[in-house]
Amino acid sequence: MTEMTERQQYDLKRQIEELKSCRGKHTELISLYVPPNKQISDVTSYLKNEFSQSQNIKSKTTRKNVLSAIESILSRIKMYRQPPENGIVFFVGHKSIGSDQTEMVAFVVEPPMPISIFLYRCDSEFFVEPLQEMLVEKEIYGLLLIDRRECTVGILRGNRVDLLKYMTSQVPGKHGKGGQSQRRFERLTEIAAHEWFVKCGEKASEIFLNDESIKGIFVGGPGPTKHYFIDENYLHYEIQDKIVEIFDTGYTDEYGLRELVSAASETMLTLKISQQKNIMKRFLKEVTKAEGSLAVYGESHVRRALTMGGLDTLLLSDGLRKYRITLTCPACHYEEHHTLDEETLSASESGICPHCATPTKMEITEKIDLIDELSDLADQTGCVVKLISQNSEEGDALFSAFGGIAGIARYPLGI
Ligand SMILES: [Zn+2]
Repeated sequence: MTEMTERQQYDLKRQIEELKSCRGKHTELISLYVPPNKQISDVTSYLKNEFSQSQNIKSKTTRKNVLSAIESILSRIKMYRQPPENGIVFFVGHKSIGSDQTEMVAFVVEPPMPISIFLYRCDSEFFVEPLQEMLVEKEIYGLLLIDRRECTVGILRGNRVDLLKYMTSQVPGKHGKGGQSQRRFERLTEIAAHEWFVKCGEKASEIFLNDESIKGIFVGGPGPTKHYFIDENYLHYEIQDKIVEIFDTGYTDEYGLRELVSAASETMLTLKISQQKNIMKRFLKEVTKAEGSLAVYGESHVRRALTMGGLDTLLLSDGLRKYRITLTCPACHYEEHHTLDEETLSASESGICPHCATPTKMEITEKIDLIDELSDLADQTGCVVKLISQNSEEGDALFSAFGGIAGIARYPLGI
């Protein structure tokens, strides 16, 4: 199971936003999902069939638009001998640009996670649900239920619970059958229990150590046994460190896994937010330091710190909607870089080259999402990038008080 990086999630989210903003005047926007195992030749013949079907569309404009969209996909898909690793999605059609005008758009998306369906849809909007599905949190947690009778090991991926191991013990109950002396019976019982815990600890550790993507582990079971099992360190120390919380459950079997997940659901929800909150708290503490502060904020300061290689963590608000553009002079190739948001971008009028003063205006030669551009800079210097959502007080502060761009330096930079 592959997991998306924060960056891939962000890029996909923006891609979906762009797709969703497209509207067709009629049902003339085509979405085509091709899973990795699909033969390109099958897709081609499917499209050719759709092409002849679409000849029957009554409205002349719609027919023309649909046919040209299918043709466009056909010519694009020819470039592939087989679908890419995770499959490929085509979004093609004439989007409405107001006052009865349309404009042909074509997006080819190679998603960060595999596509599982083959799907062709012609509608007045692009069909993005399968891509949105990929953004649903698929965090992975380990589940462990234990008492003296049973032990169940499971994994939670998103909403899916998988039972991986169910074991039962030979540990006798608390009370002897008579015949043996009570002390001897208790001693044998404790030895058997110890062996049972060792076995469970080894098995659970083996399973959990095998999956590095496990974010945390929840432990459950009735009574005090689970606490004893944890306190006596029957689990591998790395697994022990991943324990998030221990809950009381009535059962220690498959049903108990469900109980455990429902008990842990609130904790899981706050966990992700709290990681972001903690890093923001670290930053805000640096901001208030009078001397030797590691806080850096504002785009130009953060940019300088990144270029110096002095930034340890880059904090970016996921509400940031800005672009880094490059203006180039067509005559002397002099370049300028600017940061603009959606509004200033559409209103911006590029000027005349200050270098050679050719009357021809400078042209936009590159436009990148600011988050992508800064993340690239960070990657080059081993700086960690954290995308901070706005749905916490701290996340909101990053956006409103610090312009959505901040960082924690490796050492005091004095900038
Ligand atoms: Zn010039």
